[in-house]
Amino acid sequence: MIILEGKAVFEGVAIGRLSIYKKSEQSVKREKVEDTDAEIKRYEAAREMATEQLQVLYDKAVKEVGEASAEIFEAHQLMVEDGDYIDSVENIISTQGVNAEYAVAETGDNFQKMFLDMEDEYFRGRAADVKDITERIINCLSGAGGGGIVTDEPVIVVADDLAPSETVQMDKDKILSFVTVHGSANSHTSILAKTMNIPAIIGCDIPLTDEMDGRDAIVDGFEGKVYIDPDPDVLAEKKQIVLKEQEKKALLEQLKGKDNVTLDGQHINLYANIGNTKDLALVLKNDAGGIGLFRSEFIYLGSDDYPTEDEQFAIYKQVAETMAGKKVIIRTLDIGADKQADYFQLPQEENPALGLRAIRICLTRPEIFKTQLRAILRASAFGKISIMFPMIISVDEVKKIKEIVAEVKKELDDAGIKYDKDIELGIMIETPAAVMMAEELAEEVDFFSIGTNDLTQYTLAIDRQNQSLDEFYDPHHPGLLKMLKMVVDGAHKGGAWAGICGELGSDLSLTKEFLAMGFDELSVSPGRILPLRKTVLETNVTEYKKEKGYAN
Ligand code: PEP
Ligand code: MG
Repeated sequence: MIILEGKAVFEGVAIGRLSIYKKSEQSVKREKVEDTDAEIKRYEAAREMATEQLQVLYDKAVKEVGEASAEIFEAHQLMVEDGDYIDSVENIISTQGVNAEYAVAETGDNFQKMFLDMEDEYFRGRAADVKDITERIINCLSGAGGGGIVTDEPVIVVADDLAPSETVQMDKDKILSFVTVHGSANSHTSILAKTMNIPAIIGCDIPLTDEMDGRDAIVDGFEGKVYIDPDPDVLAEKKQIVLKEQEKKALLEQLKGKDNVTLDGQHINLYANIGNTKDLALVLKNDAGGIGLFRSEFIYLGSDDYPTEDEQFAIYKQVAETMAGKKVIIRTLDIGADKQADYFQLPQEENPALGLRAIRICLTRPEIFKTQLRAILRASAFGKISIMFPMIISVDEVKKIKEIVAEVKKELDDAGIKYDKDIELGIMIETPAAVMMAEELAEEVDFFSIGTNDLTQYTLAIDRQNQSLDEFYDPHHPGLLKMLKMVVDGAHKGGAWAGICGELGSDLSLTKEFLAMGFDELSVSPGRILPLRKTVLETNVTEYKKEKGYAN
């Protein structure tokens, strides 16, 4: 038995096999070959394999998401068989006498550049498809598989680190747990683990070798340990913990349908955070009162090109209808920094977390923003949607946003398209500037939701992605807690309600404090709703304030 340690980012115990996540991107070396005909044959075989893989993906996608969304795999098949692409690869192999991997990579680069140079936005978007099929053919040549996890049974996913664009493509039903070598406690892998309610460990020195792949293991998210080839007594002990956890969950089930009200009658809304429509089942299962944060950028991250208004509308409508009149807060595009989509072609920046991201992109590229706003507003006719804007720093910004929303509303009015005319508008409080301006901002909007993940990073000047700074990243920093109180007070004075949608909202050791501060809402990963409800039901806020010597 091998025992490895790391930092647990979500509790629980998972027992299963390890699956080493292979990045699909490979570094390709230029090598001289003697027999160029044999190399061209290798290329032909890889092309055939890539086409077969795409057919499997197409069939799977048709079943899961329908024909229209599956078309991308059909388009990729056509690209693999594109005559110009094939001619270029074969020509490089035979004239330069080099290996097929290099010839494919070179061709892929050239074709990508060609597409990126085109005027037409549609063709520029095709560059990402060329990259995708090029990587697929290279993987077929090198026998690395199609990237990602290939499995029938649920597994423990082991990776160096996982980008949001990688996790978004994973089949969530097949994941028991995440173990990563890098990544920080506040990264999106951690957030995903919480959403999925599965144990996750980061900073674990686990070798990413083929030899590790498929070995039996236990991930203990309480201790932050991974047991590989566990001894029978350890396995038996951990199975007991799994059983106990299941019992605890069963007890929490009894809290379903109960109101979130403290012993002395204070009420709080408990909403759920989601990243896509697949999370909806968890939201309903955990009895959330609404959705307090729909991270809409995951629609963009899961796509090879800008999602159209109709594609987005269909998703928002589905969420609104599923929630059947309960509040759904859709956060507009929060891309940039750690969340990158190639087709946005964002500039390389020295400090991406302080760069062109979130609302700044929307305000500099209003056409993207307006497409999303139209889609959200149209969907608001089918349920109770609110719109929330991320990374706000000033009242002026909010005024500009409101002007754009008004323009879009007018366009819809002119076209006779229905939407909720009283749709609530809110902002995320994620920057110290927004905290200081809370009261003035509250006069402009209906609600605030504090993004404590970013607010902590910007207040403590600590990159939330930097694992080596985790020991300094103190989400309970008294300065930060004072800011939270300032935000609630500012919100209420300015006539807005206030909630928290960052990870701190689910920290049970602070629930009483949040109730005492007067928060109206906490939005957390679906699996945290019932534990939070339990704490709320057991709290007497008046007593707690007395104990702490707070004024009433
Ligand atoms: C936050 O910053 O706390 C937040 C909820 O947004 P995200 O984690 O998506 O940046
Ligand atoms: Mg944020």
